[in-house]
Amino acid sequence: MFELFRDNVGLFTCVALFFGLLVGSFLNVVIYRLPKMLENTWNHQCQIQLNLIEEETPPPVFNLVVPHSACPNCQAPIRPWQNIPIVSYIFLKGACAKCGTHISIRYPLVELLTGILFAMVAWKFGVGLPALGGMLFSAFLVSMIFIDADTQLLPDNLTLPLLWFGLALSLFETYISVKEAVIGAMVGYLFLWIIFWLFKILTKKEGMGYGDFKLLAALGAWLGVAPLLVVILLSAILGFFYYGLIIMTSKQKTEHKNIPFAFGPSLACAGWIAFMYGKNILSWLYPNVQF
Ligand SMILES: [Zn+2]
Repeated sequence: MFELFRDNVGLFTCVALFFGLLVGSFLNVVIYRLPKMLENTWNHQCQIQLNLIEEETPPPVFNLVVPHSACPNCQAPIRPWQNIPIVSYIFLKGACAKCGTHISIRYPLVELLTGILFAMVAWKFGVGLPALGGMLFSAFLVSMIFIDADTQLLPDNLTLPLLWFGLALSLFETYISVKEAVIGAMVGYLFLWIIFWLFKILTKKEGMGYGDFKLLAALGAWLGVAPLLVVILLSAILGFFYYGLIIMTSKQKTEHKNIPFAFGPSLACAGWIAFMYGKNILSWLYPNVQF
């Protein structure tokens, strides 16, 4: 199997595409449930602190597996054949089979996005650890893009494992050396931490969340220091357009100042582009420097 994929990158890319569609289907669950799981845990802890419930009371069972997926409107369980990525959405014409409630186009789009990213990673790296790592990296970033856009939150359960995976892969010199990974993580964290404090001292406002520092630290662990420059430049450009888009689609047209704006999606997109093409972009920006 390994040799078949090694000799035939096209086949490996196709398999990666289908694998990505399946993973994307799982990421939809993560994107929808992880913020609710965190909220449930916080509510439970608050209730204990305020003596509203006994300390032994177990929190409600709600995780990535239980309860099973159901229509949010009529609670009809989602059958396995209705859970096939993309295909089911087209077959069901974007509506619940039982009650006809509209299903967001975002579900098949997340699946398709994940499939395409996996295929691009497979095409670039060929079969092996770098491709597997790249798929893991892509999956983490996709879930963070949508969770942060929805909730303005980058959960530690995602940013910190991504950081550790980056450091762990550097032990095998998968992309970069351990030294580059550690320095990359430190520079990534400190860069945004310094900007955060400068901004806070100058304007007395908090312009970013700690999740953003942790995400850039994680990206540094995967990319090393030099490509972080690409991440920072690209995320600033993407953030500018994303903010414009939010203002244009926002209903509070009069008060632009307090619209919540997540920086995570821009960072994550820029991080993925830098992971794939960072070296090319750097040598285009600085033709005389060897990276
Ligand atoms: Zn329904």
